[in-house]
Amino acid sequence: MIRKTQQGKVVSDVIEHAGRPLTPLEVHELASQKIPRLGIATTYRHLRKLTEGQQVVGVDYPGQPPRYEWADGKDKVHFACRSCDKLFALEDTTGDNPPAKAPKGFKVQGFEVMLYGICPQCEQG
Ligand SMILES: [Zn+2]
Repeated sequence: MIRKTQQGKVVSDVIEHAGRPLTPLEVHELASQKIPRLGIATTYRHLRKLTEGQQVVGVDYPGQPPRYEWADGKDKVHFACRSCDKLFALEDTTGDNPPAKAPKGFKVQGFEVMLYGICPQCEQG
């Protein structure tokens, strides 16, 4: 029998080692490989806990469920595959430079970069 604390650990491990933002369903699928009877509600509960504890951050992708990725404190550039809808975390080459300049009077507090295209798996298939 797997204890609750271990479930949380498995869920956080899945996100930490995924290397890309995962939907709650993907997290559930991967965590279920280690905890066969993990419930989806339990997965959501652990996701919420991890987000509240700021170990995990949500990544918004318009028109889709939020993804979750490990919060390592670095800004991320994301790549969205238009074929399989997966998100990938890319190295941030923008540094602290926003891709656009805000007009006078606007105070920029952060920015997010999303690239769109076809991932290598889809390109091959
Ligand atoms: Zn793809």
